[in-house]
This record gives sequence, structure tokens and C-alpha cells, in this order.
Amino acid sequence: MFEISRDLYRELKPLVIADAKHPGRSERVLLAACEQTVARIARDLRRYPRPARHLFTNVRFLFPVQEQLNCYRIIERHLSAALEVLEAEAGPDTGRIGALRCASINRKGRPCGREPLRGSRFCPSHKHLEAIVPRPHHGLSVA
Ligand SMILES: [Zn+2]
Repeated sequence: MFEISRDLYRELKPLVIADAKHPGRSERVLLAACEQTVARIARDLRRYPRPARHLFTNVRFLFPVQEQLNCYRIIERHLSAALEVLEAEAGPDTGRIGALRCASINRKGRPCGREPLRGSRFCPSHKHLEAIVPRPHHGLSVA
């Protein structure tokens, strides 16, 4: 994950408007924003809508207007890659990253807790829910 924010930063850095009074400040702001965003994606994978848009909003003032679209595309490309990696690692949506648990609720109102079927978010008893319950929004769309 750390590498993703570094790669993103490295690609964006040459586009930054240098702060003449405080050399290096714009770059530090950018690096911190990239790291925070990637850390939050890692933590809140399925509860962080539109991370690329959010990061872009926070850092766009660091870039000249004519570079902003380019900047957004770079952010979107890197964060999409990050999301794909994390989605794959997280497996079926479980509400908790990394834990392989059926996403259903049992009769007592507790998470089902059984192991889900491969490629599904639900265990064999609850697999019929896969077709009914929509997958959560992952923030990959561009508004
Ligand atoms: Zn279940």
C-alpha cells in the first residue's frame, strides 16, 4: 500500500506548482494527502466513496489549471489499481477486510459467520441472497 502512494506521488510531483517562499512545502502537502488517501482506502475499503475524487479535491490547488485533468486521471488510475488489489485481497464482501465470513445475518440477528462459498459473499445456506442483495458501491465511478 505504501508503494502505491509513493508511485502516485512520484507521478504527480513534477506537475506541482512550486512554493517559492517555502521550497518543498507543496510536495510535502501532496505526499501527505496521497498517503492519507491510500491509508484510508486500505482501512475503509468498502466505506470510502469516490476516493480519487476526494483526493483530487484536496490537492488540486497544488497544480496549474491546465494540468488538473491530467492530475485527476493519474490519481484515478493509481487508486483504481489500489482498489483492485485490495478488493482481491479482501475477497467476498464481509464487512471486515480479510475475514472470510458469510455476509448474512442469522435468526438471532448476529452475523452468520459461516465460511462463504468461493467467489460469493454468502455461505451455502444463504447463497440465494447473492442475487438479491446489491454489492456495495466501491467508489470507482466518476461523477
Ligand atoms: Zn450464511
